[in-house]
Amino acid sequence: MDYIIDYKEIIEQAPLDEPARQYYFMDRVRELVEIRKLEGYKAHCMVEVMGCQMSAKDGEKLLGILEKCGYTVTEDDWDADIVLFTTCTVRENANQKLYGRLGRLKHQYEKRDGMIIGITGCMMQEKDEVEGICKHYPYVKLVFGTHNVYKLAELLYKSLVTGKRTVEVIDDTKLIVEDLPSDRKFKFKGSVNISYGCNNFCTYCIVPYVRGREKSRNATDILRECEKLIEDGCLEIMLLGQNVNSYGNDIPGSTTFPELLKAVAELPGLKRLRYMTSNPKDFSDELIEVMRTHPNIERHVHLPLQSGSSAILKRMNRHYTKESYLELVRKIRKAIPDATLTTDIIVGFPGETEEDFQDTIDVVKECRYDAAYTFIYSKRTGTPAAKFEQVPEDIVKERFDRLLKVVQESSAENENRDLGKVMEVLVEDVNRNQEGYVTGRLSNSVLVHFPGDKSLIGTMQMVKLTESKGFYYFGEIA
Ligand code: SAH
Ligand code: SF4
Repeated sequence: MDYIIDYKEIIEQAPLDEPARQYYFMDRVRELVEIRKLEGYKAHCMVEVMGCQMSAKDGEKLLGILEKCGYTVTEDDWDADIVLFTTCTVRENANQKLYGRLGRLKHQYEKRDGMIIGITGCMMQEKDEVEGICKHYPYVKLVFGTHNVYKLAELLYKSLVTGKRTVEVIDDTKLIVEDLPSDRKFKFKGSVNISYGCNNFCTYCIVPYVRGREKSRNATDILRECEKLIEDGCLEIMLLGQNVNSYGNDIPGSTTFPELLKAVAELPGLKRLRYMTSNPKDFSDELIEVMRTHPNIERHVHLPLQSGSSAILKRMNRHYTKESYLELVRKIRKAIPDATLTTDIIVGFPGETEEDFQDTIDVVKECRYDAAYTFIYSKRTGTPAAKFEQVPEDIVKERFDRLLKVVQESSAENENRDLGKVMEVLVEDVNRNQEGYVTGRLSNSVLVHFPGDKSLIGTMQMVKLTESKGFYYFGEIA
């Protein structure tokens, strides 16, 4: 079927205000998709999330926009007309993962008429990566960055009409576009961005360069979004930011993070409230107090250590010391004794000596983390630490293995803490490894598997914890 589109006229008629402009383009894409469906176009779409919770949240927004454009979600990339990736670039191996996936999709692209492969996310904020993609992967038709995820419909429209590759990456923006569609992965839990970007410039980290300067959302908008989620059946909300504790610092007279957390926790009907990530340098007494006095805030603190050596922390630009970190942990443990504690640690930061590494081991032993995410330092071009003198690979590898052992020993010490207790579990899914079982989470983020079926998903159950397996339990409904 022939159809004629006056592309210029359509662009000229588009509203200039957001999000009205994007809704206009969603309608235009939908018209195109409906016509193509008559010719056999299936309009199946898929978004593959690579990376952190922010990336997952972007993925939900992209899916919401695609559905509004007339696409149907598929889990099978062999059956997708659009595959979008939300990429991560925090460590080198994240980039490799994308290249592996693109290589495998080439064959499918050649067979599927009109297929669009698109990439967004942190990796696309790096000029060299975008140039490399454009040069080596001609079948990638859509490239956009972290600051214009909201523009998917407009960019997609351009790609569909022109048939050409569309690339739009901007360095930073002060604009926050609210009220776009979003397809939440889980009905019973949802996440809400409270701030975007980061101002901390830890010397190893690429995030401030690819996510831009910190921009806090207006507290009223955040509360309204949380209320909507609760009305929609969400029992659990996760507040998201690169450094949630510095929420509001960029807006004079703004609500602070503890105030915001308190206001969200007190919304009627909210069973659980979580947040990610907090930086130890800004973890205030007010925050501890709000957590202590609001039992629906999760009994879990994720407190990224990165290194236990004060000298390394200084060179990482973290603004806390071994001593101040340990003091903070003591305070948290005293105020909220039932909270689990988890952390992130980087091994082999440039200049790390055996003595520095021993400081990290000391902190792990003293903090007795329930879990620690350990990373080998990855050199990110453009960050200050990339220019520092690097630690030889074999030494880093050996330290990494030693750290892992200490982490395992320390988490094993917590293994039986709640054994035999009856605790509330939010059921998240059926257990894929054990038939007849479901899996859920305690308020302290620990997983629990117990007999049940899919009708329990999204419900809160009182479960007796009968067997401890490290960072998870087996149990039975009490
Ligand atoms: N905003 C969060 C972290 C985001 S990145 C925070 O400040 O905690 C998630 C984790 O990746 C970090 O905590 C750090 O441990 C790790 N990471 C970041 N950059 C890294 C690098 N260059 N090499 C290795 N690990 C890194
Ligand atoms: Fe990266 Fe540091 Fe910002 Fe976290 S706080 S995103 S580690 S710069």
